[in-house]
Amino acid sequence: MELDVSTALSHPGQEYSFSGAQAIADQEIYGSVVRIDDCAVEGTFLADDQGNIHVKGQLRTVAHAPCANCLKDASAIVENDFEEDFIRNGDPEDDEIFSYEGHLVSMEKLVMSYAVMALPIRFLCREDCPGLMYTDPEAAPVETGIQYPFAGLRQLLDQMEEV
Ligand SMILES: [Zn+2]
Repeated sequence: MELDVSTALSHPGQEYSFSGAQAIADQEIYGSVVRIDDCAVEGTFLADDQGNIHVKGQLRTVAHAPCANCLKDASAIVENDFEEDFIRNGDPEDDEIFSYEGHLVSMEKLVMSYAVMALPIRFLCREDCPGLMYTDPEAAPVETGIQYPFAGLRQLLDQMEEV
């Protein structure tokens, strides 16, 4: 997602609104892969007299990761507010600042850092996830059939022996 700031640059102090979507690469956090849907982003920007761009707005998306208790798929709504300056012709290697050149401001780095910042520390499939069940085979209820995971294979082997 890029903001075309050419009009803003010729009208310093004038506020412009924007909205769009920003794709975000998968993140590896504490050893689990967090997949983040495209972020919905909206806000306003304006140029100052030096040509720096002041951007503020909100992002909203959904992130997906394994449940911290049972490893099932879990997801969480991610929302964050941001307000940053993009320095005109600033050093793109400098992690302390956002910068841009020309008349296009890339929102990718900003949206990614604010989305990652707002991720939950633990993903849970549901608030009261009891964690991994049936770790004790004696505790497994009989009617689930869960203690016979190879029943189908057994049947197949029996059929093969008959041939
Ligand atoms: Zn769970």
